Amino acid sequence: MNGEKIHVENGKLLVPDHPIIPFIEGDGTGPEIMASVRKVVDAAVQKAYGGKRGIVWKELLAGEKAIREAGNPLPEETVEAIREHHVAIKGPLTTPVGGGYRSLNVALRQMLDLYANVRPAKYYPGVPSPLRYPEKVNMVVFRENTEDVYAGIEWKMGTPECEKVRRFLNGEMGASIPEDAGIGVKPISRFRSQRLVRKAIEYAIANGYPVLTLMHKGNIMKYTEGAFRDWGYELIRNEYADHVVFEGEGERTEGKVLVNDRIADNMFQQILLRPGEYGVIATTNLNGDYISDALAALVGGLGMAPGANIGDHHALFEPVHGSAPKYAGKNVINPTAGILAAKLMLEHIGWKEAAELIDKAVAKTIGEKKVTYDLARHMGVEPLSTTEYTEALIENL
Ligand code: NAP
Repeated sequence: MNGEKIHVENGKLLVPDHPIIPFIEGDGTGPEIMASVRKVVDAAVQKAYGGKRGIVWKELLAGEKAIREAGNPLPEETVEAIREHHVAIKGPLTTPVGGGYRSLNVALRQMLDLYANVRPAKYYPGVPSPLRYPEKVNMVVFRENTEDVYAGIEWKMGTPECEKVRRFLNGEMGASIPEDAGIGVKPISRFRSQRLVRKAIEYAIANGYPVLTLMHKGNIMKYTEGAFRDWGYELIRNEYADHVVFEGEGERTEGKVLVNDRIADNMFQQILLRPGEYGVIATTNLNGDYISDALAALVGGLGMAPGANIGDHHALFEPVHGSAPKYAGKNVINPTAGILAAKLMLEHIGWKEAAELIDKAVAKTIGEKKVTYDLARHMGVEPLSTTEYTEALIENL
């Protein structure tokens, strides 16, 4: 089948019936996961639309396979192809520790300006959870992906650069940083905060989430985290006033998103004690990294956690977990995080029927206690292999 490219016009995706969607297999367990993902997506699309729609997959090289076949872990053609096709999905890529090449995941996010890291945490009945009422968990974190203390602006203790910054801050700015300190910088900008919050509120409105929470540590870091909150409110007031109700400013109205904010430490206990009161969470980079893993733990762990990196014109979907190399080639890994990432991708391109079929099949399969090792060990059932689980899921579509 010859596919066509997805186009973007006036900020909107134009998706043909047979879009070419690039995929990266990934390292370690990536190939097993992506094989399962593609099988499930193809079956769901077939079931939802008959032959009218179908994805034409196009493999792109990255990671260890790219080194073997192209001598470079992230060939320029790979980045260009994602740029050209607008929507892509990837398996996990290994990042060598203490040397080697830099994180390909971070490189892809930066090169394509994928500024919103989107991480849903939704409970599927039967999944082991430390919560008493885990069925109340249905949250989506929008984590700013490009700035904050993750911007990499830091200096090692004792280096001339660090000393220069310390002298400036102590001498001219009235700080009193000790000699044996390393120093890092936390930039949070209005433009980047607001474009992230815009993505989050649009997602809440489009997908019927009743609450949007700005999560921040603005009581302490007033001009970064506090400013994130203020800029978030400012954007929503200016651009989305008709769609929202602000907490403390009147009655909650059906069909309108309740907008509030919570201090980060409080938010961690809120998701444990009152998970049913939250929906979309928009937050800065570090907060978002922490809270999304905490949320994943409530709904079955890394094997169940999908993610997306979204910018204005491009979106790259992936499981949150890494390449889990110790399970590579063993046919045991849980492909659900990848499959749910594909479900997000189908929603993103507007193929909601196929996405819904996947969602229901995941719920049904887990409900039947047909699960891989990671969930089976807590459920006291025999684990299925990756391929057996994939087949069971396809049967349940
Ligand atoms: P990891 O690959 O996520 O695996 C850590 C542990 O999480 C596994 O040993 C396993 O725990 C569990 N797990 C992960 N994925 C699972 C799945 N699909 N099903 C069931 N259990 C799963 O983390 P890591 O070992 O720290 O990282 C390995 C490599 O991946 C590193 O090079 C890292 O840099 C890279 N990485 C890549 C990405 C990305 O591509 N976006 C993200 C994170 C890490 P048990 O053994 O306890 O069952």
